[in-house]
Amino acid sequence: MVMPSYRCRIHVAKMPSMAFQYGLLRLLLAAMLTMLLSSCGNQQARVDTHETLNAALWTQTSAEYAATTLQAYQLAASNLDRALADTQWTAALEQGGDYTDLPPAIMLDLDQTVLDTSSYNARIILEYGSHAREHFSAWCEGSTAPAIPGAKEFIDHAVARGVTVIYISARREHLRDCTTVNLRALGLPLPGQERLLLNDGTPSSSKTQQRVDIASQYRILLLVGDNLNDFVSGSKTDPAARRALVDEHAARWGREWIILSNPMYGNWEASLYEYDYSLPRDERLNHLLQQLQQ
Ligand SMILES: [Mg+2]
Repeated sequence: MVMPSYRCRIHVAKMPSMAFQYGLLRLLLAAMLTMLLSSCGNQQARVDTHETLNAALWTQTSAEYAATTLQAYQLAASNLDRALADTQWTAALEQGGDYTDLPPAIMLDLDQTVLDTSSYNARIILEYGSHAREHFSAWCEGSTAPAIPGAKEFIDHAVARGVTVIYISARREHLRDCTTVNLRALGLPLPGQERLLLNDGTPSSSKTQQRVDIASQYRILLLVGDNLNDFVSGSKTDPAARRALVDEHAARWGREWIILSNPMYGNWEASLYEYDYSLPRDERLNHLLQQLQQ
């Protein structure tokens, strides 16, 4: 085969100086380095993890979390003794009329207050992706939650002083049996089901209404919980209004209201996406990211 011949005309331009070539090389290397670093950065940002990973790990593994719950419950025990001695003392905004002679009671939320349900949050991270009522029910039916550090000692302290212990939870009624089994397996007092207030989906089982009911029978010495609605009504609102509620009742915290930290979930988080639980997880995440303050 005869190869065609090409006549090339080569224009020989004036060669750039060595300094120019050296500068060009430096620019090229800098651009490559920038691209490489940028690529590494993107890889890190794309690590597939869950938005509650650190919160769940802190709750499950940190010494500091246990220290905060022990601190809260030791404060509660100390305040209980003060509350018993002061017949004017009440923790419930719903307490009205002459309550001074009513028998004393305390009201405690269950999840992340008395019961450590963080293994459910671990399951969300590893398996479910998001909370769903049926997921929680399945977990609840099959799991035995341990007690939050300090909870049992405080409750035993209250019982020893003749104080009635009322558990109040947003868990649905169909979880009554597994909740009862869990509490009793931990040796927590539950002499009758009237001491375990769950949610039947009606307004009468809202935590506020349940406090109204208990306040008509008992003098409520302490409220213990991990969510603002364990203490005060009207807290299912936006973050600024929730914060204003905390400030409005500033003198109650650490006195008759004992709150435990819960960085994993709660109305604090749902308020960031306006309680729209129907949002897909990625849309919820977008709402969360928009709330960050730099
Ligand atoms: Mg709770």
